[in-house]
Amino acid sequence: MNGPLVKLDNVVKVYKVGGEDFTALHNISLSIERDAFMSFVGPSGSGKTTLLNLIGGLDKPTTGSIYFKDLKLADLAREEMAAFRRKNVGFIFQTYNLLQVYSVYENILFPFLLNDFKEADVRDRVVEMVRQVGLEPEIRKKPAELSGGQCQRVAIARALVKEPQLVLADEPTANLDTENSYQILELMRDLNKKFKSAFIFSTHDEKVTKYVNREIRLKDGFVSWDKRRNGEGTFE
Ligand code: ADP
Ligand code: MG
Repeated sequence: MNGPLVKLDNVVKVYKVGGEDFTALHNISLSIERDAFMSFVGPSGSGKTTLLNLIGGLDKPTTGSIYFKDLKLADLAREEMAAFRRKNVGFIFQTYNLLQVYSVYENILFPFLLNDFKEADVRDRVVEMVRQVGLEPEIRKKPAELSGGQCQRVAIARALVKEPQLVLADEPTANLDTENSYQILELMRDLNKKFKSAFIFSTHDEKVTKYVNREIRLKDGFVSWDKRRNGEGTFE
């Protein structure tokens, strides 16, 4: 099927703050390809998280429309939106958001349980995903026994195990040192190729820029730059 995976059409997000309107996103229109590996870049407060949350169906725009293929997200009722997210979107957060009482294996199994799969039917897929992110020796450990880089690998595995068409990662390298950041970025790039999922990062980490094929810069809720990498590896 052709056409973009996600399309935003004049998206505006207004928050009410102490009785006053605050516009976090101004008239954003853009298309995201099915194999995207791209980032939203901007300083704190520029609207990156707001934009990811709208694209992932965690929140709705004030005006304007968001389409996931032919599906208009605003037409979905609350429960349908939750079902849409469970099926199509994998989220990776800056602080990993792992379940502390569960093992690596159980954290990665969790999205399947939410989708009413039986453990026996998906055990092999979970173990394979653990292997893909290089955590086989840690499979029975709990998050408290892991490093930050290992926790982010668990979060990536959890986001990808259902092979969603869209993966959204909000500042995924913010809590990692340089070496771990590069390892996580390479892992995500490999998985983008392998699973054919679109990846969108929000970040203000310069390191991410080296990996993405497209960078959209945000400033005060406006798109100030939208460039793709050409064959020579430079943005144009
Ligand atoms: P970023 O992720 O780039 O740091 P955000 O999307 O979190 O930016 O925030 C953009 C702007 O919207 C900021 O000024 C922030 O204070 C404001 N904002 C974000 N979420 C809310 C909210 N739930 N209520 C009110 N204001 C918000
Ligand atoms: Mg943010």
